[in-house]
Amino acid sequence: MERLTAPSIVTLPGAARRVMLEVLLHGPLSRREVAVRLGLDPGHVTRITQSLIEAGLLDETDGRGAAGRGAGSGGRPSRPLAVTPGGRNFVGVKLAQNELHAVVCDLSATVVAEAYRDLPDNDPETAVAVLADVLREFDAWSPLALGVTLGAQIQHDWTVRVAPIVGWRDVELGRMVEAATALPTIVTNDMIALTAAEHWFGSGRGISSLALLTIGVGVGYGLVANGRIVTNDDMGLGLIGHEAVSNRGQICPQGHRGCATSVLSYSGIEAAVSAALGRRVSFDEVLELFTAGDAVACAVVSDAADAIGSLIQRIATLAMPERIVVSGEGVRLAELTWDRILSTASARRPPDATPLDVSLQRIEQSEWARGAAVTAIQRSMGASVTGDATTD
Ligand SMILES: [Zn+2]
Repeated sequence: MERLTAPSIVTLPGAARRVMLEVLLHGPLSRREVAVRLGLDPGHVTRITQSLIEAGLLDETDGRGAAGRGAGSGGRPSRPLAVTPGGRNFVGVKLAQNELHAVVCDLSATVVAEAYRDLPDNDPETAVAVLADVLREFDAWSPLALGVTLGAQIQHDWTVRVAPIVGWRDVELGRMVEAATALPTIVTNDMIALTAAEHWFGSGRGISSLALLTIGVGVGYGLVANGRIVTNDDMGLGLIGHEAVSNRGQICPQGHRGCATSVLSYSGIEAAVSAALGRRVSFDEVLELFTAGDAVACAVVSDAADAIGSLIQRIATLAMPERIVVSGEGVRLAELTWDRILSTASARRPPDATPLDVSLQRIEQSEWARGAAVTAIQRSMGASVTGDATTD
């Protein structure tokens, strides 16, 4: 089957796409601001925005803030433009072991519907059949395109090369999903999807470089540099998870002691505390014990905090992003130890170095699926997922 073409949101000349993208990423903006930012003739921008309003893609806002003042002296007041809420919809799907999470997002990546399904097994055929079933439930939203994401190495935004968690190898998932749903589909690694959402619609809005560090079941890393997500064929192997961060910790499945996975992942932390206390202790319970001052939990959580600080320090030094965001399902650990993390992260920076811009980001379980929807939005906006979002 021929691969479906992602629908172009802006089937207008390149300037219209640039206007649309500018308002999507930086809006609300007045027509005048759009013209200045893009170096376009104001009259041209007015004609373009009119066609985008008529197409239901842009709306005039209620004119809050400075952007709402008149476009020219004595001229008719020009209200700032924003992307029409619900004007176009996209589906994002996160596949994981025995579960599937799906969301519908509008063009601004606002989640408007959500679905969760248990999967009876981890066969690709089962996942695709359940996904197609969820898509029928989303019919009323008339989605334009679909993004699918999972913890995997992905080739050409289409083929799952290796997905250890679900046990897949060389699965042409994009083709299977398009055949089952008739929607243009993009398949991406889950850290790429999460980074895409953060880049366009989260902490990365308005900046050109950003690093994302996630903790939870595994340790993840995403990087935006010069307005592009940085990736290569090894994305999906979880390389940062095997960075050496401690002399202690459990032994990871690859045999390293003290790698980020052994010190920071749920399983590493649970194993360390369980072994010392002689009973099974969950990650959440470890955090409770830490808060209560339990010595074992304090030692293990403090090691984890130091590991996060050490990774932040390396990321800041080597990748030089403007901002670093710590996120993932296990971010509560970082919240509880934030001062220690910051102190470790900054310890080796010379006094004249720029203070680190590092923050915590709590995420909902649906955020991965939302990231997948963002990859579909980016594709439909004519931006390569790992391409330049802010310039043409
Ligand atoms: Zn390791």
